[in-house]
Amino acid sequence: MCDNCRNIKVVKRFPSPNTYLSALEQVKELLATGNYEIEFATCPIDKVKDENGYWCDDSIAHKIKCKQCGTSFIC
Ligand SMILES: [Zn+2]
Repeated sequence: MCDNCRNIKVVKRFPSPNTYLSALEQVKELLATGNYEIEFATCPIDKVKDENGYWCDDSIAHKIKCKQCGTSFIC
C-alpha cells in the first residue's frame, strides 16, 4: 500500500444509504486527485440516484484502483 491508500478510511458496512453516499463522495475526491481510476462500476458514479431520487439499482458497487500501488477499494 502506498501513502495515498493508507489515508483511506475503509468502511466495511454501510448502515444507511447516506453513509454510502458520503463514501461515494470520498471516492469522487480520490478520483479527482488523479491517483485512482474506476475499475468497475454498476452505474456512473454521479448517477447512483436519478433525478427523482431513486437508486439506479438494488445493489450498487464501485471499485476503484490505485494507479500507484494497485490496491483496489470497493464502495
Ligand atoms: Zn495506493
